[in-house]
Amino acid sequence: MRRPFVAGNWKMFETASEARILMSELLPGLIAIQGVDVVICPPFTSILPVAALLEGTAIGVGGQNMHWEASGAYTGEVSPAMLAEFCKYVIIGHSERRAYFGESDLGVNRKVKAACAHGLIPIMCVGETLEENVAGTTREVVTRQVQAGLDGIAPSLIATIVLAYEPVWAIGTGRAATAEGANQVVSDIIRRVMSQLYGENLAQQVRVLYGGSVKSSNAGEFFRQVDIDGALVGGASLKSAEFIPIVKAAAG
Ligand code: PEP
Repeated sequence: MRRPFVAGNWKMFETASEARILMSELLPGLIAIQGVDVVICPPFTSILPVAALLEGTAIGVGGQNMHWEASGAYTGEVSPAMLAEFCKYVIIGHSERRAYFGESDLGVNRKVKAACAHGLIPIMCVGETLEENVAGTTREVVTRQVQAGLDGIAPSLIATIVLAYEPVWAIGTGRAATAEGANQVVSDIIRRVMSQLYGENLAQQVRVLYGGSVKSSNAGEFFRQVDIDGALVGGASLKSAEFIPIVKAAAG
């Protein structure tokens, strides 16, 4: 059985002092919930205070991005080794990185490999844009992203990696995919590709999240789907009255 998983992507919100306040609102509710892996992904400057507040709890901390090199002359970048001192997870290939920062499938693959090499668990995001969806190319796009992103990743690492299906048109729009539609992409495309690459047994062990306008009122529908194991939550992860019920819904 796959353990439910919910990650909150704070995006470029919450200064360090704001992060401490938000954590004081989230923590009492979150630590009372059992049976689900919970991860908070703050912006880089808030990772340290959030990690300090979460020390001794089962709640994980994740980065939202990183460079693939361990160190070097890459002004403005943060390395996997730097993240690994404070984080267990890292989001890789978020659609906002792909769209605004030119992140390619090759870059995503380098980062997934680097994360694994540094003991970080990647949360690798895939998903089609609205244009691709309308053009009927979702299968082609998501297949390519999964295959390219995982290229060269050893089978021994696959069961720990987390994938997130995030249709770009659903992110931050308030227009979530239907739970059944998202489940179909996860089962017919993502798990099928994983099965071709790694065999059915491993494909069934990998946790796959849905992301895109998840809120407390719709989370349960996604979590009831057979192939969806949790959520990557953006906007709603910044509100304790939303995020805590979402995590509770994932716990079942
Ligand atoms: C995200 O940032 O990954 C996301 C899914 O955002 P939102 O929940 O706001 O759509």
